[in-house]
Order: sequence, then C-alpha cells, then structure tokens
Amino acid sequence: MYVPLSKPHVGEEEIQAIGEVLRSSCLALGPVTEAFEQAFAAAHGARYGIAVNSGTSGLHLAVRALGITAGDEVITSPFSFIASANCMLFEGAVPVFVDVEPDTFNLDPEKIEAAISPRTKAILPVHVFGQAADMKRISEIAEKHQLAIIEDACEAPLARHHGQYVGRWGDCAVYGFYPNKQMTTGEGGMLITDDEAIYRLCRSLRNQGRSDNMQWLSHSHLGYNYRISEITAAIGLAQCRKLPRFIQKRQELAAQYHALLHDVEGIQLPATRPENQHSWFVYALRVEAGIRDALIHKMNEKGVQCKAYFYPCIHLQEYYQTQFGYEKGSFPIAEQISRESLIIPFFTQITPKEMAFVKASLVACMAEVKN
Ligand SMILES: *Cc1c(COP(=O)(O)O)cnc(C)c1O
Repeated sequence: MYVPLSKPHVGEEEIQAIGEVLRSSCLALGPVTEAFEQAFAAAHGARYGIAVNSGTSGLHLAVRALGITAGDEVITSPFSFIASANCMLFEGAVPVFVDVEPDTFNLDPEKIEAAISPRTKAILPVHVFGQAADMKRISEIAEKHQLAIIEDACEAPLARHHGQYVGRWGDCAVYGFYPNKQMTTGEGGMLITDDEAIYRLCRSLRNQGRSDNMQWLSHSHLGYNYRISEITAAIGLAQCRKLPRFIQKRQELAAQYHALLHDVEGIQLPATRPENQHSWFVYALRVEAGIRDALIHKMNEKGVQCKAYFYPCIHLQEYYQTQFGYEKGSFPIAEQISRESLIIPFFTQITPKEMAFVKASLVACMAEVKN
C-alpha cells in the first residue's frame, strides 16, 4: 500500500465546467471568474473577492493595497510558509518576526506589542495548518496601535474563531488553491475584503494597473499580470460549492485520527482551542526532535508519505539568514515546533483502511527508531 500526503479532490463537475468554458470561447476576464469571486467571498461573508494566480500574488497585492512600502515593518510569524514573509520583501518592507504559541503554532499576541516600532504598519497573522490565530487579541492590539491587518488564510478556508470566519478580522485576507490545499484550482488564490478601495486597487494591480474605466491600454499604477483564466475559475467555482462538505469531512477525519492515534506512544496530537473551528489543511504530529527525521524516513520507506512541516522556520531559511543575519535561538518556540512536527497523510478522500495503515506503520516505525 502507498498513502500519499495529500490528494486533490476533483470530480466530474470540474471536468464539465472546464468543457463549458472551452466551448464558450471566453477564456479570460469573463463571467466565470466573477462568479467564482462572488461565491468564494459570499461563503466567508465578505463583500468582495479578487481572484489571482496564486496565494503569494494575493499576499503581494494585499501589501501593495495597504500602502506598505520600503522600510515599513510588518509583524508576522516565523512558523509559516515562506510566502507570508516574502510578500513584504517584494516591496522592500521588513518582516518583523514574533514567536508563536506552543499549542496553536500561531503568532503569540502577548509578544506583539514589544515588537511594535514607529515604523510598524501592519500585522500579518497566519492561520497555520487551518487553525485560527488569536484574532480577538490581535485585532484589539491592531486597533490600539492603529495597525492594518492582513490575514494569511491560505491554509484556513472556512475556519472560525469565536464563531466568526477567519479572513473577517482584518482589512483583507488571502487564500491559496494549490493542489494540497483544502480546495484547489491547480494554481490560484483569492483576496477577500469589505473595503471598496482595497477591492478596486487590487483589481487594477492584478491586471497591469489598468485604470478603473478599464481602457485596455490605460495604466494608472505599476501593476502585474496576476490574473487567472476562466478555466481556472471554472474549477474554483465547482470546488467552492463543495468546500463546506470538504471541511466537514476533514473535521470528521481529524476526529477519526484522534481516536485512532491517541494511544500511540511518543507522539503528540494536534490541539484545537475551544474557540476555534479548525479547517484542517494538514494533520501535524509532534515527536521528540531527536527521532523526527528517522521516523519520517522509515515511514516513507513503508509507503506512508510524511514530511517535516514547516522546517526550517522562515528566519532560518538560507536567504533570510544571509540577508538579515538571523541566528538559531531567535524564536525558540517556533524553532522547537519546527524540529518536532511532521505531517502524515491527510486528504478528503482518505479511507479508513489507509488511516489504519498509517497507524500501523507509525507504531512499527516508532518502535524501530526508539531502539
Ligand atoms: C499555500 C500558502 C500560501 C500561498 O501559496 P501559493 O503556492 O502561492 O498559492 C501562502 N501562505 C501560506 C501559509 C500557505 O500555506
């Protein structure tokens, strides 16, 4: 048996929708993209959605739209995918890292205020693995210091915090649709906001900075080509309709993994805070740092794909170390999680048999690495 880490869940609806687009002969900037934007924004209760060609593009547009520029500082998490900090570097702004909470792996609100300086413009929390950061506290701090908030919700569509969707606590939020995410468009992303000015600016920036009247050769800003095609949008619209079911299924699967794995010695299961409704991007375990890599190696040998995630932390990536001189020990909690965490196969269509095989392999590999 071979169990992959993740697997996209696409069906006949997506295939049919692509066919309809191809037969329509409108392949870009058409009605399907608008329908996808409206459906995704509405699913989260937001007024506007702007579809883009990746989550990274969406984060870059968010930074631009909030006027974050060279020398400005943005407070963010070192325990994330690199794009959530790179988006500041694209504009010459400075990511200022703050350590994370040991249970949720998300930005620790208690450590934010000490990192605020006169140059701080925004906070960019990441809802890592599908669980909300403490947005209640973070938005209070942002309000007190008049800082903007960009939510990196790429791993957390339909996740909730105190009953309210993530992506609804800041000025705007960004989602990603790479094939390992809860829903996919192959490549793609979405920015959501209630702010009309952000909406207008992002629409322009993703389309070469074209002015509002959309004269094809009239460019009012330095923009990009971050557009998606109607084909991508068709996949997105079909996936978006299924998203609530996907998330519910993932919550059930996570509960099944909990029940299955709670008695395995030497592993720590993921914890969800009572105020959070997790949307389960990945299922991450923690094990002793000293055995983590050997365990992953043995699991992969047995046909169960596992991966260290996220490793290393962003500030310890080669580019960040050489450019900014970060050293080990700067953010000890994030670094410890990064040395101990691994993800195991988790996707919407994983079967009970596959989950049982993951468990059996885990028990066997654990015994081997402990000896
Ligand atoms: C997936 C992801 C992104 C966006 O990735 P793209 O590949 O550009 O779509 C951004 N931030 C985080 C935390 C992610 O997991």
